[in-house]
Amino acid sequence: MRIILLGAPGAGKGTIAKMLTDYDGSVQISTGDILRGAVKGATELGEKARGYMERGELVPDSLIMEIMESRLQEPDCRKGFILDGFPRTIPQADALKNLLQKLHLKLDRVINLDVPRDVILDRLTTRRTCSNPNCQEIYNVKSKPPTPDGKCKKCGSPVIQRADETEEAITKRLETYNEKTAPLIQYYRKEGSLKNISSTSSDEIFNNIKATLKAG
Ligand code: ADP
Repeated sequence: MRIILLGAPGAGKGTIAKMLTDYDGSVQISTGDILRGAVKGATELGEKARGYMERGELVPDSLIMEIMESRLQEPDCRKGFILDGFPRTIPQADALKNLLQKLHLKLDRVINLDVPRDVILDRLTTRRTCSNPNCQEIYNVKSKPPTPDGKCKKCGSPVIQRADETEEAITKRLETYNEKTAPLIQYYRKEGSLKNISSTSSDEIFNNIKATLKAG
Protein backbone atom coordinates (compact mmCIF):
# COMPACT_ATOMS: atom_id res chain seq x y z
CA MET A 1 0.00 0.00 0.00
CA ARG A 2 1.02 3.60 -0.51
CA ILE A 3 -0.62 5.85 2.02
CA ILE A 4 -0.24 9.11 3.88
CA LEU A 5 -1.11 9.21 7.58
CA LEU A 6 -2.33 12.62 8.68
CA GLY A 7 -3.07 13.63 12.24
CA ALA A 8 -1.91 15.91 15.04
CA PRO A 9 1.21 15.08 17.04
CA GLY A 10 0.14 12.29 19.40
CA ALA A 11 -2.70 11.09 17.17
CA GLY A 12 -0.97 7.72 16.89
CA LYS A 13 0.52 7.89 13.40
CA GLY A 14 3.71 6.06 14.41
CA THR A 15 1.84 3.23 16.14
CA ILE A 16 -0.55 2.70 13.24
CA ALA A 17 2.28 2.92 10.69
CA LYS A 18 4.12 0.11 12.48
CA MET A 19 0.97 -2.08 12.47
CA LEU A 20 0.53 -1.47 8.74
CA THR A 21 4.13 -2.29 7.85
CA ASP A 22 3.93 -5.54 9.82
CA TYR A 23 0.76 -6.33 7.91
CA ASP A 24 1.94 -5.99 4.32
CA GLY A 25 5.68 -5.34 4.27
CA SER A 26 5.52 -1.73 3.14
CA VAL A 27 8.01 0.63 4.78
CA GLN A 28 7.24 3.34 7.32
CA ILE A 29 8.80 6.64 6.34
CA SER A 30 8.78 9.05 9.25
CA THR A 31 10.43 12.39 8.53
CA GLY A 32 10.58 12.96 12.30
CA ASP A 33 12.60 9.73 12.80
CA ILE A 34 14.89 10.55 9.87
CA LEU A 35 15.52 14.03 11.28
CA ARG A 36 16.12 12.78 14.83
CA GLY A 37 18.61 10.24 13.43
CA ALA A 38 20.41 13.06 11.61
CA VAL A 39 20.52 15.24 14.74
CA LYS A 40 21.92 12.36 16.77
CA GLY A 41 24.52 11.57 14.13
CA ALA A 42 25.39 15.31 13.93
CA THR A 43 25.21 15.22 10.12
CA GLU A 44 24.93 18.40 8.06
CA LEU A 45 21.19 17.82 7.77
CA GLY A 46 20.95 17.27 11.52
CA GLU A 47 22.77 20.50 12.28
CA LYS A 48 20.41 22.42 10.01
CA ALA A 49 17.29 20.81 11.53
CA ARG A 50 18.14 20.75 15.24
CA GLY A 51 17.04 24.26 16.29
CA TYR A 52 13.67 24.09 14.54
CA MET A 53 12.93 20.70 16.08
CA GLU A 54 13.84 21.68 19.62
CA ARG A 55 11.55 24.71 19.42
CA GLY A 56 8.68 22.59 18.06
CA GLU A 57 8.75 24.46 14.73
CA LEU A 58 8.69 22.90 11.29
CA VAL A 59 11.94 22.27 9.43
CA PRO A 60 12.00 24.21 6.10
CA ASP A 61 10.13 22.55 3.22
CA SER A 62 13.20 22.53 0.97
CA LEU A 63 15.17 20.36 3.43
CA ILE A 64 12.26 17.96 3.83
CA MET A 65 11.79 17.60 0.08
CA GLU A 66 15.49 16.87 -0.38
CA ILE A 67 15.15 14.03 2.13
CA MET A 68 11.96 12.66 0.60
CA GLU A 69 13.12 12.83 -3.01
CA SER A 70 15.94 10.40 -2.29
CA ARG A 71 14.09 8.33 0.32
CA LEU A 72 11.19 7.46 -2.00
CA GLN A 73 13.62 6.14 -4.60
CA GLU A 74 15.26 3.62 -2.30
CA PRO A 75 14.56 -0.01 -3.27
CA ASP A 76 12.62 -0.88 -0.09
CA CYS A 77 9.87 1.53 -1.19
CA ARG A 78 8.88 -0.78 -4.04
CA LYS A 79 6.73 -2.83 -1.66
CA GLY A 80 4.81 0.29 -0.68
CA PHE A 81 5.20 3.03 1.91
CA ILE A 82 3.39 4.61 4.81
CA LEU A 83 4.19 8.31 5.08
CA ASP A 84 4.14 9.32 8.74
CA GLY A 85 4.58 13.02 9.51
CA PHE A 86 4.93 14.05 5.88
CA PRO A 87 3.56 16.10 4.15
CA ARG A 88 3.16 18.72 6.89
CA THR A 89 2.42 21.83 4.80
CA ILE A 90 0.55 22.64 1.57
CA PRO A 91 3.85 23.33 -0.30
CA GLN A 92 5.10 19.87 0.79
CA ALA A 93 1.86 18.29 -0.46
CA ASP A 94 2.21 20.06 -3.81
CA ALA A 95 5.84 18.99 -4.09
CA LEU A 96 4.92 15.41 -3.18
CA LYS A 97 2.30 15.36 -5.92
CA ASN A 98 4.94 16.36 -8.49
CA LEU A 99 7.46 13.90 -7.10
CA LEU A 100 5.02 10.97 -7.26
CA GLN A 101 4.11 11.89 -10.83
CA LYS A 102 7.78 11.95 -11.76
CA LEU A 103 8.29 8.51 -10.18
CA HIS A 104 5.06 7.15 -11.77
CA LEU A 105 3.61 6.26 -8.39
CA LYS A 106 0.03 6.58 -7.24
CA LEU A 107 -1.18 6.96 -3.66
CA ASP A 108 -3.89 4.57 -2.48
CA ARG A 109 -5.34 6.68 0.30
CA VAL A 110 -4.80 9.57 2.70
CA ILE A 111 -5.90 8.57 6.20
CA ASN A 112 -6.67 11.27 8.76
CA LEU A 113 -6.49 10.13 12.38
CA ASP A 114 -9.01 12.32 14.12
CA VAL A 115 -8.37 12.30 17.89
CA PRO A 116 -9.82 14.74 20.50
CA ARG A 117 -7.44 17.40 21.82
CA ASP A 118 -7.60 16.33 25.49
CA VAL A 119 -6.58 12.78 24.53
CA ILE A 120 -3.69 14.17 22.45
CA LEU A 121 -2.39 16.37 25.29
CA ASP A 122 -2.54 13.53 27.79
CA ARG A 123 -0.72 11.19 25.41
CA LEU A 124 2.06 13.62 24.57
CA THR A 125 2.98 14.40 28.15
CA THR A 126 3.02 10.72 29.15
CA ARG A 127 4.81 9.45 26.04
CA ARG A 128 8.29 7.95 26.20
CA THR A 129 10.39 6.62 23.33
CA CYS A 130 13.12 3.99 23.08
CA SER A 131 16.43 5.81 22.55
CA ASN A 132 17.77 3.17 20.15
CA PRO A 133 17.35 4.71 16.66
CA ASN A 134 16.80 1.25 15.16
CA CYS A 135 13.96 0.46 17.56
CA GLN A 136 12.13 3.65 18.62
CA GLU A 137 9.41 1.63 20.35
CA ILE A 138 6.83 4.00 21.86
CA TYR A 139 5.82 3.71 25.51
CA ASN A 140 3.37 5.48 27.78
CA VAL A 141 3.98 5.88 31.51
CA LYS A 142 0.31 5.17 32.22
CA SER A 143 -0.88 2.64 29.64
CA LYS A 144 2.26 0.95 28.30
CA PRO A 145 5.19 1.43 30.69
CA PRO A 146 8.76 0.31 29.93
CA THR A 147 10.54 -2.02 32.39
CA PRO A 148 10.60 -0.78 36.04
CA ASP A 149 14.16 0.53 35.54
CA GLY A 150 13.14 2.47 32.42
CA LYS A 151 14.43 0.14 29.70
CA CYS A 152 12.85 -0.85 26.38
CA LYS A 153 11.08 -4.21 26.55
CA LYS A 154 12.09 -4.99 22.96
CA CYS A 155 15.78 -4.06 22.83
CA GLY A 156 16.84 -3.15 26.39
CA SER A 157 17.96 0.42 25.56
CA PRO A 158 17.03 3.32 27.86
CA VAL A 159 13.55 4.74 27.27
CA ILE A 160 13.55 8.56 27.22
CA GLN A 161 11.31 11.61 26.99
CA ARG A 162 11.94 13.50 23.76
CA ALA A 163 13.39 17.03 23.98
CA ASP A 164 10.34 18.34 22.11
CA GLU A 165 7.95 16.76 24.63
CA THR A 166 8.23 19.47 27.26
CA GLU A 167 4.95 21.31 27.86
CA GLU A 168 6.17 24.43 26.04
CA ALA A 169 7.31 22.55 22.95
CA ILE A 170 4.12 20.47 22.90
CA THR A 171 1.96 23.62 22.92
CA LYS A 172 4.04 25.01 20.06
CA ARG A 173 3.80 21.76 18.05
CA LEU A 174 0.02 21.72 18.39
CA GLU A 175 -0.20 25.38 17.28
CA THR A 176 2.04 24.64 14.31
CA TYR A 177 -0.13 21.64 13.46
CA ASN A 178 -3.35 23.68 13.51
CA GLU A 179 -1.87 26.45 11.42
CA LYS A 180 0.24 24.57 8.86
CA THR A 181 -0.84 20.93 8.73
CA ALA A 182 -4.58 20.80 9.48
CA PRO A 183 -5.34 22.55 6.12
CA LEU A 184 -4.10 19.37 4.41
CA ILE A 185 -7.30 17.60 5.51
CA GLN A 186 -9.33 19.87 3.26
CA TYR A 187 -6.65 19.66 0.53
CA TYR A 188 -6.94 15.86 0.28
CA ARG A 189 -10.69 15.87 0.86
CA LYS A 190 -11.06 18.01 -2.26
CA GLU A 191 -8.95 15.53 -4.19
CA GLY A 192 -11.28 12.74 -3.08
CA SER A 193 -8.51 10.65 -1.51
CA LEU A 194 -9.24 11.36 2.17
CA LYS A 195 -10.55 8.85 4.69
CA ASN A 196 -11.28 10.32 8.11
CA ILE A 197 -11.13 7.93 11.09
CA SER A 198 -12.36 9.10 14.49
CA SER A 199 -11.16 6.57 17.00
CA THR A 200 -8.65 6.29 19.82
CA SER A 201 -8.31 2.50 19.59
CA SER A 202 -5.36 1.43 17.45
CA ASP A 203 -6.94 -1.96 16.67
CA GLU A 204 -10.13 -0.29 15.51
CA ILE A 205 -8.17 2.19 13.36
CA PHE A 206 -6.06 -0.62 11.86
CA ASN A 207 -9.15 -2.67 10.93
CA ASN A 208 -10.84 0.39 9.48
CA ILE A 209 -7.81 1.14 7.27
CA LYS A 210 -7.63 -2.46 6.04
CA ALA A 211 -11.33 -2.37 5.15
CA THR A 212 -10.92 0.97 3.35
CA LEU A 213 -8.02 -0.32 1.26
CA LYS A 214 -9.90 -3.53 0.35
CA ALA A 215 -12.93 -1.51 -0.73
CA GLY A 216 -10.59 0.34 -3.15
P1 ADP B 1 5.22 14.72 16.00
O1 ADP B 1 4.33 14.31 14.87
O2 ADP B 1 4.99 13.92 17.21
O3 ADP B 1 5.28 16.21 16.24
P2 ADP B 1 7.55 14.01 14.44
O4 ADP B 1 8.44 12.96 14.94
O5 ADP B 1 6.73 13.71 13.26
O6 ADP B 1 6.70 14.42 15.69
O7 ADP B 1 8.39 15.34 14.13
C1 ADP B 1 9.25 15.93 15.07
C2 ADP B 1 9.76 17.27 14.54
O8 ADP B 1 10.50 17.07 13.33
C3 ADP B 1 8.67 18.27 14.18
O9 ADP B 1 8.25 19.01 15.29
C4 ADP B 1 9.40 19.12 13.14
O10 ADP B 1 10.28 20.02 13.74
C5 ADP B 1 10.23 18.11 12.38
N1 ADP B 1 9.51 17.53 11.21
C6 ADP B 1 9.14 16.23 11.05
N2 ADP B 1 8.53 16.04 9.87
C7 ADP B 1 8.50 17.25 9.26
C8 ADP B 1 7.98 17.72 8.01
N3 ADP B 1 7.37 16.90 7.14
N4 ADP B 1 8.13 19.05 7.73
C9 ADP B 1 8.75 19.88 8.58
N5 ADP B 1 9.25 19.51 9.76
C10 ADP B 1 9.14 18.20 10.12
